[in-house]
Amino acid sequence: MASQRVLIVEDEEDIAQLLAYNLRRDAFDVITADNGREALDRVMTDQPDLILLDLMLPEVSGIDVCRKLKTDQRTRDIPIIMLTARSEEADMVTGLEMGADDYITKPFSPRVLMARVRAVLRRRQVSEIATDEMIHAGPLVIYPQRFQVTAEGEDLKLTLMEFNLLVTLAKNPGRVYSRDQIVSSIRGDNYAVTDRAVDVLVVGLRKKLGAHSSWVETVRGVGYRFREI
Ligand code: CA
Repeated sequence: MASQRVLIVEDEEDIAQLLAYNLRRDAFDVITADNGREALDRVMTDQPDLILLDLMLPEVSGIDVCRKLKTDQRTRDIPIIMLTARSEEADMVTGLEMGADDYITKPFSPRVLMARVRAVLRRRQVSEIATDEMIHAGPLVIYPQRFQVTAEGEDLKLTLMEFNLLVTLAKNPGRVYSRDQIVSSIRGDNYAVTDRAVDVLVVGLRKKLGAHSSWVETVRGVGYRFREI
């Protein structure tokens, strides 16, 4: 497999070097830009798999770079991790609202940085697979087109609603879904689904998952999620 390419956008050279060093040590292909304009050019020419984006940049600010990338169909699926100082919290929130995937506050530990990078890339791979055909989630392999799911190779017999619930959760392990969100994503044309019905569905799904039931977690006061690891 070709190594994944990370674009570092950072005008402070020592930080850029620290980032590049850690990424290269983990076999990432690293490219850099030290201002926003160059960053936008490099995204188009080099098609990185992930962008580490400093928010305080000369010329075009990091927030403007983020906005441009997340509103352009060609680039909006490239994950962005923002690098921020604590004093830039407002910008960081704006970035997340615009679709940035995560942020790291400076000063950062290289171990935390690498963990975030891997987590964001993993989530991206899972969602790409989901739009293709199969979803790998914990011990499960789900084939959305075939309405089939296996746990360690064994077929599970789910109802259509249980299946849709499982796909909704397993597409984004670690993400919490409220009952409302679950209702709107699994509602078929002819079904009315209530909050209570979601709870009942979860009970039924866990029963069929058997030894693997703990992968579907209750998040008290919020909803449900599929366990991340
Ligand atoms: Ca900076």
